[in-house]
Amino acid sequence: MAQKHTTTVVIGAGHSGLAMSYRLRERGIDHVVLERGQIADSWRHGRWDSLRLLTPNWQAELPGARYSGTDPDGYLTMPEVVDHIVDYARIASAPVVSSTAVERVSAIDGGYRVQTDAGEWHAKTVVAATGACTLPNIPALADGVPAGVRQLSPLDYRSPAMLDDGGVLVVGASASGVQLAEEIALSGRRVVISTGEHVRMPRTYRGHDIFWWMHHAGVLDERYDEVDDIVRARHVPSPQLIGSPERRELHLGTLQDHGVEVVGRLGMIRDGVALFSGGLANVTRLADLKQERLLDRFDEWALQSGRADGIPPHRPEPVTVPAQPRLKLDLVAEGISTIIWATGFTADYSWLDVPVVDRKGRVVHDGGVTEAKGLYVLGTSLLRRRRSTYINGAAQDSDDLAAHLDATLAGDSRAARVPA
Ligand SMILES: Cc1cc2nc3c(=O)[nH]c(=O)nc-3n(C[C@H](O)[C@H](O)[C@H](O)COP(=O)(O)OP(=O)(O)OC[C@H]3O[C@@H](n4cnc5c(N)ncnc54)[C@H](O)[C@@H]3O)c2cc1C
Repeated sequence: MAQKHTTTVVIGAGHSGLAMSYRLRERGIDHVVLERGQIADSWRHGRWDSLRLLTPNWQAELPGARYSGTDPDGYLTMPEVVDHIVDYARIASAPVVSSTAVERVSAIDGGYRVQTDAGEWHAKTVVAATGACTLPNIPALADGVPAGVRQLSPLDYRSPAMLDDGGVLVVGASASGVQLAEEIALSGRRVVISTGEHVRMPRTYRGHDIFWWMHHAGVLDERYDEVDDIVRARHVPSPQLIGSPERRELHLGTLQDHGVEVVGRLGMIRDGVALFSGGLANVTRLADLKQERLLDRFDEWALQSGRADGIPPHRPEPVTVPAQPRLKLDLVAEGISTIIWATGFTADYSWLDVPVVDRKGRVVHDGGVTEAKGLYVLGTSLLRRRRSTYINGAAQDSDDLAAHLDATLAGDSRAARVPA
C-alpha cells in the first residue's frame, strides 16, 4: 500500500481530536484525523447505559460551536453526547478517516511514520488525542480474586441487567464508583463500596451548579504550571457527582440511605477474603474538610465579586459512616458474585514508539508539548489547566497547541523553547 503524506496526523476522533482539527483548519494546516472506530467511539462503546455527563450542557461547547440547545443547565445522555460530537465533526469539517487503528508511530526523516491497520502515513507533526480513559486502572491485588467472582470495570459495565445473581463489591468511590453503586443498589442487589481518598462536592451550591462556581471563581483556569504537585493533581479522583434531571446529590451518605454498605480502602485479597482499611472515618472526614475549603473559596469569591445573588451559604452535612466498619469480606461465602473496579482509568500509548513514554506508560510532556519536536498530546487530565480534564478544556488547549505546532512548522525556534 502506498504511503500517504500530510502535514499533521491527529490520532483519535473524540472531541479533542476534532477540536484540534478545527484549529488546524483555522490555520490552514493540512491534516487528517485517524480514528480506529467511529467518531465519538469512546462514548458509543465505553460508557454505561444510564450515564449522563456530570458537567452541565453549557460546558460542552467546543471551538466554533457554542451550546445552543434549550437546556443549558441539563446534563447530556450518552446518545446526546455522541450526536453532539458527530455534529461537531461536521461543523469542523474534520477530515476523519474511520476504522483506521494506529498501530505504531515512530520518528523518521525529521517527521513521523504512522503505521495503521489500513496503510501508512508520513507527517511532520502528530497530535495524540487518543483519550485519557482508554484502559481501566485495575490494581495488582485483583490477582487474588477467586475464580468464580466476575470482574468488570466501568468501561465494560452497561446496566444491572448484565450482572449475575448475587452481591456486588464496587472498589473506588469517585464519580464512576458512586454512580454504579447507587444504580446497582436501586436494582435490588446487595452492594458494598470500598473507598479510599475521595472528593466530595455538592451538586448545587447557593443556587448554582458546582461547575458554575468552579468556572466563575477561576478554579478551572488554574494552570498546570501553577499547581504544587502536578503528578498528584493529575491523579486526583473525580468528584462524587451525578448528572441527573432532578440535580440530585450523590455521596457516601445518600448511598447508605439506599442500603449500600460503605467500607474502607481495599488493601489486599487473601484466600478469597477482601481486607479493608479501618481508616474509613478519616478519609470521609478529610473529604468533608476539603469540600468545606472549596466552598469557603466560593463564598470569598462571591463576596469579592458581588455575585452572591442573595442566596445564603448552605453547607452540606458531614457524611456519617460506621465508626467500626467491616474490615473483612469473604467474597464467595458472602455471596459477592461481581467486583467492579472503579479505580480510575489510564491512557494507552502502547502504539507510541518515540522515547517520550515513561516506565509507567505515560507520555512525558510540558502542557501537551513533548520533547520530540512536533509531537503533542491532547485531552488528558489537567493537561494545561484544570478545565483540560473536561470536554470544555479542549477549546483553549487545542488553540495553544495548534499555535505551538504552527510555529514549529514555520521553524520558529522560540516555539521549541517556550512551553505553549
Ligand atoms: C465514565 C466517564 C464519564 C465522564 N464524564 C465526563 C463528563 O461528565 N464531562 C466531561 O467533560 N468529561 C467526562 N469524562 C471525561 C471524558 O470522557 C474524556 O475527557 C474524553 O472522553 C476525552 O475526550 P478525547 O477526545 O480526548 O478522548 P476520547 O473521547 O476517548 O477519544 C479518543 C478517540 O481516539 C480513538 N483512538 C484511541 N486509540 C486509537 C488508535 N491507536 N488509533 C486510532 N484511534 C484511536 C478512540 O477510538 C476514540 O474515538 C468522562 C469520562 C468517563 C470515562
